Amino acid sequence: MKSPARTSKTRAKTHSSDLNKNQSEPFFGPATLQPKLEIGQQDEPHESKTLKSPRLKNNKRFQAVFENKSVIEYGDQGSEVRRIQQMLIDLGYSLPEYGADGIFGSETEQTVVNFQADHPPLIIDGRVGFATIRAIDDYFPNFEITADLSDDWSVDCVLEIMCPWNSHIVENILPGFTIYMYDDFEIPQKEWNGSEWIDNPMHPRAYHWPGNNEIGFRSNLSCNEIVIALYHEAWHAQQPPELIEVTLDREMNAFINTEQWSIDIGISGQIDESSSSDVTSLRSETDGQAEVDEEQVRQHVRQRYGGASERSGERIHSKTEDKNKVRVRRADGSFYERYPVEGEIVPFFDEVDFTEKKELDIDEWSCD
Ligand SMILES: [Zn+2]
Repeated sequence: MKSPARTSKTRAKTHSSDLNKNQSEPFFGPATLQPKLEIGQQDEPHESKTLKSPRLKNNKRFQAVFENKSVIEYGDQGSEVRRIQQMLIDLGYSLPEYGADGIFGSETEQTVVNFQADHPPLIIDGRVGFATIRAIDDYFPNFEITADLSDDWSVDCVLEIMCPWNSHIVENILPGFTIYMYDDFEIPQKEWNGSEWIDNPMHPRAYHWPGNNEIGFRSNLSCNEIVIALYHEAWHAQQPPELIEVTLDREMNAFINTEQWSIDIGISGQIDESSSSDVTSLRSETDGQAEVDEEQVRQHVRQRYGGASERSGERIHSKTEDKNKVRVRRADGSFYERYPVEGEIVPFFDEVDFTEKKELDIDEWSCD
């Protein structure tokens, strides 16, 4: 199945702040909208009684929408909104300003409008009701992975896993980058242990370097590891630019959405056994269903990623001449100095060193 790969050029202005402001007022959508379908007002025959996609089924809210007992719409917040946003992004409907943030604001509404306009006879109302969720459901069918996920990666295993749901990544996102493979790549980070700086180097499985338009992968990854890495780095490539400078927010967003994807598609998650992180899994179980554990994600990112600051919008940039202080970049781009908090990690991006870095030819990668 080909994804529509449509990119919305429409930028919605309002967001979470306007949600709060408008909470007591009714919301009127764009003037072009058709009359809204009320919950329970209309139903249509459908061959299936339940959602089919692993991305949607087993979720009470999605099932209620499917049965026309609920809608997901402007003003909604939470993990179901985030998951709908993620599926729209995976189909090539970009959310350029806010990304998959779990807040159904006007950008998400406009993106749902774009999806509906491409899928007649859906009613174009910017709400995810039963007909729209069924259309989304059809794009992410259940499929069986036959490749051995623990084997060394191959082009065949990548395409077998990525193409059914993520042809947009294979055909539209990755070709926009120069793709590299490397044997190793060390980022020599320093961690403040409360009284001194200690070495805490990072050896990433993969990276996304927007400044150089590069995406890279360690060459010895398993099939499971490379598809996770591909999704994670391609996700970065589609994140809002505002997130790029803020390590904690950027990585939490990428880890949460990638972990959700790996749960849905049925493969192992992002934490491997060789990880030195205290965090052993980014998932928890509720009623037998795996869910992304956002607190574990936060802890993992804080422990592994230089630059993660707990203060919103800030990034720890570097050590200062005074070895006991750090230089911090504020959300507005300005800098200040302060004492480090125990556990904070400073990245040394000037000194990165690859071994055996070579370009990977993906011209033959195709989902046809
Ligand atoms: Zn990342």
